Amino acid sequence: MYRTCLSSITKVTNRLTSISINTEPSLRKMSNQSIADKFQLPKRWQGSTQSVWNEYTQLFLKYQPLSLAHGFTDSPVPKYITQQLAIATQNADHMLNQYARDFGHPRLVNVLSSLYSKLINRTIDPDTEVLITAGAYEALYASIHSHIDEGDEVIIIEPAFDSYEPVVKMCGGVVRYIPLRLKNPASDIITSADYVLDDAELEAVFNDKTKIIVINTPNNPCGKVFSREELTKIANLCKKYNVICVMDEVYEWMVYDDNEHVRICSLPGMWERTITIGSAGKALAVTGWKTGWALGPPNLISHLHLVHQNCVASIPTPLQEAIATVFEVELKRLDSPECYFNVLRLELQVKRDFMINVLKKSGMQPIIPQGGYFIIADWSALEDKVDLSQEPDAQKDYKFTKWMIKNIGLQAIPPTAFFNAANKSLMENCVRFCFVRKEENLHKAADILKKWTGKM
Ligand code: PMP
Ligand code: GLN
Repeated sequence: MYRTCLSSITKVTNRLTSISINTEPSLRKMSNQSIADKFQLPKRWQGSTQSVWNEYTQLFLKYQPLSLAHGFTDSPVPKYITQQLAIATQNADHMLNQYARDFGHPRLVNVLSSLYSKLINRTIDPDTEVLITAGAYEALYASIHSHIDEGDEVIIIEPAFDSYEPVVKMCGGVVRYIPLRLKNPASDIITSADYVLDDAELEAVFNDKTKIIVINTPNNPCGKVFSREELTKIANLCKKYNVICVMDEVYEWMVYDDNEHVRICSLPGMWERTITIGSAGKALAVTGWKTGWALGPPNLISHLHLVHQNCVASIPTPLQEAIATVFEVELKRLDSPECYFNVLRLELQVKRDFMINVLKKSGMQPIIPQGGYFIIADWSALEDKVDLSQEPDAQKDYKFTKWMIKNIGLQAIPPTAFFNAANKSLMENCVRFCFVRKEENLHKAADILKKWTGKM
């Protein structure tokens, strides 16, 4: 899975070795400063550390556990999707192998504008209101960079995807955190709907300096799908304090039971102040294609254009063509069970239910996610079955997940990676499992947990 990643690490290491060997004494004399002294991490990046994704990829490579960690499928993607990429590169229109229009390949911005115009019941202009990005990561990066200055405030609802905070800080912005809290922690069955914001606490994080609130629905890692009522409350505060919403909706198609994915941009008066972010990687289970988008009013999207044009400039044309072709097909059958979004959702709901059952039987307390493809589970009841004394990490969930990798061969993600220091205690006894996995691998995970806990 990580072979490409490993070979690039080796190449970088080789290059670093050759740099130090070739440094001639005459060149070294030119300055008394060492490379290490002069080339420190710029101040705006200081304080950032290796992400949990990189750390846990290294652990995967080293220990080869069964991975229910990173958020991507281990199943083959339907051929009709992957074939579109081959077709795009070999198309009679050979220009599909050249640079795309910077702000998005016309065929892709057209189909996305048709799709989202239908979903939010408003006409979206493909030329000025859609930007194609290098995954949702770049859409988030460009949204924050193009609106945040020194001292501007950004509200982040925790648990929050770990890239939001460093980007805000890099822009000189100030983060105001507000955590989702469990309203009934002692209850037998807890769902992600039980994670709620306190109304007074929410209003207290808004002020005149607030420029952005970042909302992730469905939420990674807890699976919360914000209700219309909750989003309306947030929308009213955004209007009151003149704030824009950066909506991370990468899991928009993965919503279970009778939950509804509500797009805040469709609420009255909110299109003007919302940037909606999506990901083809998540929607079509092709995370390696790293293609996403930002939708919003021209005055906001044109700001993102400036960041994008001087960063990646354009996104690979064949990928955009292939994604556009697939979306054209899906748009026509959006309400049919054959639509890939519906197929994936139903498959995932079965896997979610299977894993909930496995985790409960093992003695953990899973929080049933309304959306996304992760489950948060509390492992406090199994504390006497682990020895965390060997792991040096400060956070208990890091110790626990490393213990699992090394002792039972199962990998999951420590959810405190999604919190700032003040709120980490909210999930220190929890672990995040990813269930977008082959059935056989979920069964293997069940066997591992059974063997370890002696339960089930
Ligand atoms: N937001 C969230 C909540 C995510 O989980 C991820 C990663 N899957 C991203 C953004 C980044 O998505 P992409 O792979 O499209 O860059
Ligand atoms: N978003 C993915 C997850 O939550 C991981 C992203 C990454 O690997 N950089 O698992």
